[in-house]
Amino acid sequence: MANPAPRRRSEAHPSPVTARAQIDVGQVEVRRSRRRRRTVSAYRDGDRVVVLLPARMSKDEERQWVDVMLERLAAQERRRRPSDAELMSRARLLCRRYLGEVEAPASVRWVFNQGSRWGSCTPSDRTVRLSSRLRGMPTWVVDYVLVHELAHLIEPGHTPRFWELVRRYPHADRARGYLEGVAAAASLPLSECDDEPDGAETADGSPRSG
Ligand SMILES: [Zn+2]
Repeated sequence: MANPAPRRRSEAHPSPVTARAQIDVGQVEVRRSRRRRRTVSAYRDGDRVVVLLPARMSKDEERQWVDVMLERLAAQERRRRPSDAELMSRARLLCRRYLGEVEAPASVRWVFNQGSRWGSCTPSDRTVRLSSRLRGMPTWVVDYVLVHELAHLIEPGHTPRFWELVRRYPHADRARGYLEGVAAAASLPLSECDDEPDGAETADGSPRSG
C-alpha cells in the first residue's frame, strides 16, 4: 500500500522498462476501483503484476504509480532472493530445527532448468537443487521446498515416514497449497518433485529422488 502523494518524474526514478526487467514481469494489469480512494497497491499474480489504483486517477498519475509500484515490488523481490550461500545456511538451520537426525547437505543451489519440479535431491551425493521459479516467493514457501528436499536425505521416497518428517515444518500444508495454486494459475504442470526417475541423476546407480 502506498499513499499517492503528488510526485514528479525525475531522473533518479527508474523507467518502467528498468523496473519491469528487474522483476521479470510478463505483463502489467492496471485495475481501477471506485471504492479505492487513496491507496495504491500491487501484487504478483502468476506471471503478471496487478496494480490497483483509485478510479479517479489521471492517465499521467497512472503511469507514475505503475512505475513506483513496479519499483517497490522489484525491491521486495530482490530482498526475497537468497544467494546459493544463503540457501545453504538456511538449509543448515532447517536441518537443525526440524530434521535433527540428518547432517546438512553437501550443497544447495538454484537451478534454472529444473523443468517441472520445484526442487530435487540426490541422496547419494547429498546435493539439493531448487528451481529458480521459487525466487521471489515468500520465505516460508522456499523453506518448505528446502525441508522437503532435505527430508529426502533421510527418506528418498514419498513414504508415510517421509511426510511425517516434512510435516514437522509447521507451514508444510499451507506451502503445498500455495505451490499448487501458483502452478494452477500459470497452467504449469509443476509438481513438488517427480516420483518418476528420468535417469538424469541415476548414472551412479544410486536411488534418485526428486
Ligand atoms: Zn519429493
